[in-house]
Amino acid sequence: MLFPGNEEFPQLVHVFLFKLVLQPAKPGFVQLDISHFFATRAVLDKSTPNGAPGSFNPTIPLATPPPVSSYMSLILFSSLLLILYTLTQVIRSINMTLFVHTGANMPIQTDVVIIGAGPAGLFQVFELGLLDIHAHVVDSLPHIGGQCGELYPEKPIYDIPAYPVIGAQELIDRLMEQIEPFNAQFHLAQAVTGLERKDNGRFALVTSAGTEFDTATVVIAAGLGAFQPRQLRVPGAADFNDKDIHYKIARTDDLAGKDIIILGGGDSALDWTLELHDKVKSLTLIHRRVEYRGQPASVKKMKALAEKGALRELHGMVREVRSDNGNFKGLSVADAEGNTHEIDADKVFVFWGLSPNLGPVGEWGLDIDKRQLRVDTEKFETSETGIFAVGDINTYPGKKKLILSGFHEAALAAFGVQKHLDPDKRVFLQYTTTSPIMHKRLGLEKSE
Ligand code: FAD
Repeated sequence: MLFPGNEEFPQLVHVFLFKLVLQPAKPGFVQLDISHFFATRAVLDKSTPNGAPGSFNPTIPLATPPPVSSYMSLILFSSLLLILYTLTQVIRSINMTLFVHTGANMPIQTDVVIIGAGPAGLFQVFELGLLDIHAHVVDSLPHIGGQCGELYPEKPIYDIPAYPVIGAQELIDRLMEQIEPFNAQFHLAQAVTGLERKDNGRFALVTSAGTEFDTATVVIAAGLGAFQPRQLRVPGAADFNDKDIHYKIARTDDLAGKDIIILGGGDSALDWTLELHDKVKSLTLIHRRVEYRGQPASVKKMKALAEKGALRELHGMVREVRSDNGNFKGLSVADAEGNTHEIDADKVFVFWGLSPNLGPVGEWGLDIDKRQLRVDTEKFETSETGIFAVGDINTYPGKKKLILSGFHEAALAAFGVQKHLDPDKRVFLQYTTTSPIMHKRLGLEKSE
């Protein structure tokens, strides 16, 4: 019987009090045992009023008339169930939180982490893969490609071997195709912020997103450094950075009813202008030149909206940030004719592109020469054993900052990593053309 009659109500309360216990389910977890509760009810249904062996031996005799009506007991019982259910849900959510939390804090165990997903970092995945070493790749950008993808995706490159000409983005796409058999794991939109050697000789590496690695080796392929938004550096700007002056737009809803200024002439500035012009109170797009770098179609749309009065377009240089008693008021902008425009705004969004910054790489105690990491030319290892550096980030006598150089360095660094992981193993150079082992690693053959 699921719902109790009057005479059973005290028993039910008794059982409830006994069973509202948090029981350990597995390490770090608790559970509320509802099924046990119902099982106990079944036992009680069959037990004698005086509490036969196996029953819960109720403290209030069954013969005692209950102080509540049958109707009331039903309501009370339902309320108890509701409380019980709510408690269970709360506990379940705590368990989930604990699980997720614990999972996030578990460092990823790996043989190698590559910092940077530019051409050198990507080809490093390939060279390590040929030696059967699986890599994790971290990049501060939300997409792969480094300078090729970020700074000149559409431009042609003429000095990649066997490609008389190849677009920069196409080169990245081809590299991704080439490394596909090795299933590298990418961790994008997070900069590596911390790198420390542990007592056991391995490295603890942490990213700005909180991802942690416990890795045997590290290959730094960080190019010119992590790309960061170009900052508005005029008098007064520093006081309002990330408060009223922003470098990205997270929530458009928050901008309803606001006067906003967008700075920039590239695709980001134009795209956001088109997206926001009818969602805000007023929008002013300010670009220093008459020519825009963004898509011609976007420029055309923006100009049509400006003509209709749906937004304001202005060409000029920001001179200073205006404020009143510490409150942000807007910008002062000088145009080409020397006129100054005082523009009121609640928020400014700066889309001046990204610039590389050596950032944390410079703080890891590695030997640095003019913002580059010194390496040997045998293994491309830095001043720290187990930390290698390839591509634009490294320096050695005769270094040339070319994609080609990064490819060569990645090949030798892979052997360096392999030697560090297994110093006693003799590794022979194998041709991808003829070696069955290479074919298997490349996914061309099923068995060695
Ligand atoms: P990058 O391409 O700079 O990639 C480094 C990556 O590391 C970036 O994505 C960055 O976000 C990431 N990173 C940095 N620090 C961190 C961190 N702490 N955490 C996480 N990620 C981080 N070279 C040629 O050979 N031929 C050419 O024709 C040619 N043309 C060029 C044209 C232009 C306009 C430019 C700007 C460069 C050109 N180059 C050319 C140079 C070439 O692009 C570079 O040599 C090459 O990109 C270097 O590759 P990389 O992988 O070492 O570094």
